[in-house]
Amino acid sequence: MQNSTTNLSSQDVVNAKILLVDDDKINTAILVRSLKMFQQVYEVHSGVDAIEFCKETPPDLVILDVVMPSMDGYATCKILKSMPEMENCPIIFSTTLETVEDEIACWEAGGSDFVTKPGIPQTLMKRIEAHLQLKLKSDAQQELAYFDSLTGLGNRRHYNNIYKEQVSLALRTKKDLSIVVLDLDYFKQFNDKYGHQQGDQCLINVAQAIKSQLHRPTDSAMRYGGEEFVLILPDTDLNGARYVANKIISAIMAQKTPHICSPYHIVTTSAGVSSLNSVGNHKELFSVADRQLYEAKRLGRNACA
Ligand code: GH3
Ligand code: MG
Ligand code: MG
Repeated sequence: MQNSTTNLSSQDVVNAKILLVDDDKINTAILVRSLKMFQQVYEVHSGVDAIEFCKETPPDLVILDVVMPSMDGYATCKILKSMPEMENCPIIFSTTLETVEDEIACWEAGGSDFVTKPGIPQTLMKRIEAHLQLKLKSDAQQELAYFDSLTGLGNRRHYNNIYKEQVSLALRTKKDLSIVVLDLDYFKQFNDKYGHQQGDQCLINVAQAIKSQLHRPTDSAMRYGGEEFVLILPDTDLNGARYVANKIISAIMAQKTPHICSPYHIVTTSAGVSSLNSVGNHKELFSVADRQLYEAKRLGRNACA
């Protein structure tokens, strides 16, 4: 991740992923040759393959042919632009068409730019570089806005987005969803005893332990605040959430980070869980998990309630 949005290096641009989509393999071969300064140039030869590729490996820029059999560039572009992971990816149309209507159709399909074939390689390079600079800067800004720079986990803003998205998906598909709230035990004393730097390192280790116990691609973990973390576990009932929470509590204990001010003598965590089906009201999902966390603290910590 970049520390600041202004220090994008030319190496970042060179390492960017570029996808070429053209049914004519001679065209992609010519493009590959003129884009040899980029280290990750991929090619596919149909709209369907482009969509599949972008689902698997979202690129940083797409160069898209307009006239292709079965699915043309406009239809492909519209579908790509509707995919959340492709929202910020610039799509440059590469076309032999040159009427005003053709140009307008490129913009209307969601294209960021267009070039005519066969074009001037230097112009194409400059355009690609300019779009990549904007895309990578916008990625870095998003990273700063939604991710916690200490632990690399999502932050509270990210949590709010995922929560909204996943709760509405769970309600729509009538599936359960659980929340786990985790809070380190006696962490104020830890900082007082070992210092803030050790405290920060401990938070990094705890985040690592949390990540190591989440195996489903739909599970997410965020740093909610200072030493508080929250998990969103779609399609998981209360028992499943307790199971995950206990595994995290054990993984943090297994790190055996000394904490002489704690009755456990190591860093430990407490957790509270709640699920849509057990609470029956999505508005109280977080507050119930938070109340359970308080209960776990009251009962002696280093446990899940
Ligand atoms: P409890 O077991 O009841 O949770 O007690 P606690 O001491 O963990 O809880 P409290 O909320 O009183 O203190 C939280 C402490 O976490 C305050 C601060 O010292 C520490 N903390 C919060 N954010 C950070 C951070 O970003 N870095 C470090 N090093 N410490 C932090
Ligand atoms: Mg706290
Ligand atoms: Mg605490």
